[in-house]
Amino acid sequence: MPDLFIDGEWRAALGGGTREIRCPADGSLVGVVDEAGGKDTAEAIGAARRAFDTGPWPRASARERAELLLHVADLLLRDKAALARAESLDTGKRFVESEYDIEDVAACFRYFGHLVASEPAGRITDTGRDDVDSRVVYEPVGVCALITPWNYPLLQTAWKVAPALAAGNTFVLKPSELTPHTAVHLTRLLAEAGLPPGAGNLVLGAGPEAGAPLADHPDVDLLSFTGGLHTGRRLMAAAAGTVKKVALELGGKNPNIVFADADFDTAVDMALTAVFLHSGQVCSAGARLLVEDRLHDRFVDEVVRRAGRIRLGGPFDERAQTGPLISAAHRAKVEAYVARGLAEGAVLRCGGARPSGPGLDEGFYYLPTVLDACTSGMSVVREESFGPVLTVERFTGEDEAVRLAGDTVYGLAGAVWTSDEARAARVAARLRLGTVWINDYHPYVPQAEWGGFKQSGSGRELGPAGLAEYREPKHIWRNTAPAPQGWFD
Ligand code: NAD
Repeated sequence: MPDLFIDGEWRAALGGGTREIRCPADGSLVGVVDEAGGKDTAEAIGAARRAFDTGPWPRASARERAELLLHVADLLLRDKAALARAESLDTGKRFVESEYDIEDVAACFRYFGHLVASEPAGRITDTGRDDVDSRVVYEPVGVCALITPWNYPLLQTAWKVAPALAAGNTFVLKPSELTPHTAVHLTRLLAEAGLPPGAGNLVLGAGPEAGAPLADHPDVDLLSFTGGLHTGRRLMAAAAGTVKKVALELGGKNPNIVFADADFDTAVDMALTAVFLHSGQVCSAGARLLVEDRLHDRFVDEVVRRAGRIRLGGPFDERAQTGPLISAAHRAKVEAYVARGLAEGAVLRCGGARPSGPGLDEGFYYLPTVLDACTSGMSVVREESFGPVLTVERFTGEDEAVRLAGDTVYGLAGAVWTSDEARAARVAARLRLGTVWINDYHPYVPQAEWGGFKQSGSGRELGPAGLAEYREPKHIWRNTAPAPQGWFD
């Protein structure tokens, strides 16, 4: 069956292009998918436009929209094993992590379904006049272009598709060309749940060919993008010509701040989870460890000891604790960051190389790496390596911790570890980050907004604000006793 879904039909690419998808864990062939070009994307935009302007979905009631989302959540859980397997084969991540991801995907659909079903239809405003009904209603934005990355393929897709549909929009989805299979599966589930033709369209393919037309096309009303900072900047500029709404979820270089009074064992354990989960390919990875001077030696020694014991392996290796990087090109980028860090004066404490051994040589593995003696001027500290690379900086006192944490263009997430509640609250208040964890790292819930300060993005996903992204407020003023005003008498 072809893999592009346009106007309710599965189609091959007009240009006949295809792409091989290979598992990053061992290079095995996962599948061959159709590869869209600009003309396919233009057709998908046309279908979404017609579905928005004249189709039933934008005119469906909130209850009908909620029912579809809740139905999709059930279908996702029905197909959890197949979806998790597909996600693991495309990304190389552990099967058990993919299973968690699919549960989170279903929870996201359920959250937005319940949200849209339970909210008031609009807002009455008090004009101070009893001859006027003034109401603000929240309408769908229109045709939404949704562009997603490869690290959490279906989860990042769900964070866009679920609120876009909940608000009554139509969309064109372009997932990462590296990890397309779960987007194809989700699209089938949307059709199975009864989403009308044209309301949800899928194009697969490379960014510059299949994705770029989504940014500057006049028939696209909103662009929601998750990916790297440089792509985000380019898309924002391309979108400016049509003044479409733009929501960006970009990278992070996230500080994990550990004070000497933190619970030692927990802070060490979570410093590892913060950065090495999914081999560091997490936008909120705690890749910058800021540790209080007097705790530094003991803390870093223990982090290094434990990092050296992390077991790497493929998605279905039950002993593996984390997996490979997504591609050879990405591993080369991570290696270049480490080399540059060392040239700039960082001290290699562990890792810094590819592992070897049975089952590892064919994959894009890289050892968990700790670089000590880092400073915020180094490129490995400033830029997102998006790999299993932890940089360590020292600080003395709260002011320096906050100053170092903020010495970056990013502002996505970070954590503070301390047993002093007042200090935790003070530091959390001063950090310019979209998410701050106190004595924890990584958890999120669909009820709470996710997004970045500074160059980590604009707009929010999840939570009520994640739904508001996909809406236009409209003020309707009804004069109930119209009469001449006599202004120009
Ligand atoms: P990327 O920017 O290379 O690609 C992201 C998507 O954009 C892909 O679908 C790609 O095909 C597409 N794209 C690339 N060039 C394009 C162009 N010219 N026009 C249109 N589309 C184009 O990012 P990536 O390597 O896939 O993902 C990793 C990045 O994503 C990291 O920087 C990570 O921090 C970020 N990320 C952020 C969040 C968040 O919530 N803030 C979540 C996950 C990932």
